[in-house]
Amino acid sequence: MNITVRNLSMTYPTGKRALQDVSFEMQSPDLIGLLGPNGAGKSTLMKLLVAELLPTTGEIRLDDAPLIKNERRLKATLGYLPQSFGLYDELTVWQFLDYISALKGIKNSRAAIEEAILETNLVEQQKMRISTLSGGQRQRVGIAQALLGSPKLLILDEPTVGLDPEERVNFRNLFSKTAEDKIVLLSTHIIEDVQSVCNRLIVINQGKILFDGTPDALIRVAQGHVGVFEEQSGDRREQGFQVTARINTARGIACRIVAEMLPTFANPVEPTLEDAYIYLIEKGERLP
Ligand code: ADP
Ligand code: MG
Repeated sequence: MNITVRNLSMTYPTGKRALQDVSFEMQSPDLIGLLGPNGAGKSTLMKLLVAELLPTTGEIRLDDAPLIKNERRLKATLGYLPQSFGLYDELTVWQFLDYISALKGIKNSRAAIEEAILETNLVEQQKMRISTLSGGQRQRVGIAQALLGSPKLLILDEPTVGLDPEERVNFRNLFSKTAEDKIVLLSTHIIEDVQSVCNRLIVINQGKILFDGTPDALIRVAQGHVGVFEEQSGDRREQGFQVTARINTARGIACRIVAEMLPTFANPVEPTLEDAYIYLIEKGERLP
């Protein structure tokens, strides 16, 4: 499967320009993390990819046909977790998944539901009403409905919101296991969620792509722009850089900073993915 996004722009009726001239391609297998701060345009991009919204200009092609002419094929291959969606509170987990699989036209629905329940660790909750579930459990029901029928294209909008650390680890494992022959695009503003699983990261801010490449390549972008120094009491040197961490050490407080030009009193260190992300967002232009 191939998805090509060409010169996509989206302006809402309010006049808000949510996406500006976005182009990229996805080819299975691809496990892509879509990173960006709140309001960057992540959800808008995802809604365009699932044909819930139509772009103002530009186009999306699915296997070389326009997405809008290919909607039936899209629906048959798509699993989508919207950022916020109403679950049917009165239904049990099983009933809800049964309902969704009927909507999706899944043939062997019983087996598909069982598999999705196993994968998302909802065996104990399957007969419970959705209204009685915790936030994290509800989020897992949302992930389960996206996974129903093993879709070849998975679009997950902030799937880890509301999950506790253990659930997040489980989710990451599930995600890398199921991704082998799929295109998976997941949005998040939590770096750890994409760090170990995604082979590719797309960073967007203010409706524009700032980076598209491997996690290692993103780290390289920040090389020479990350340093540490020891903070002195009443320090007035904090100018022209962004402090990303303050760590108490035996000798005092170590400050970790990201800057376009490292000050002379800072010692350069290897960037982490988080440093690189902060550097990129601060810089605000496409790199490398
Ligand atoms: P993200 O998912 O990255 O937080 P969104 O795609 O939801 O970002 O939003 C991008 C921008 O578009 C934001 O400024 C948001 O306020 C605006 N926006 C989103 N949805 C609408 C809408 N339906 N009408 C007008 N503006 C919107
Ligand atoms: Mg969003």
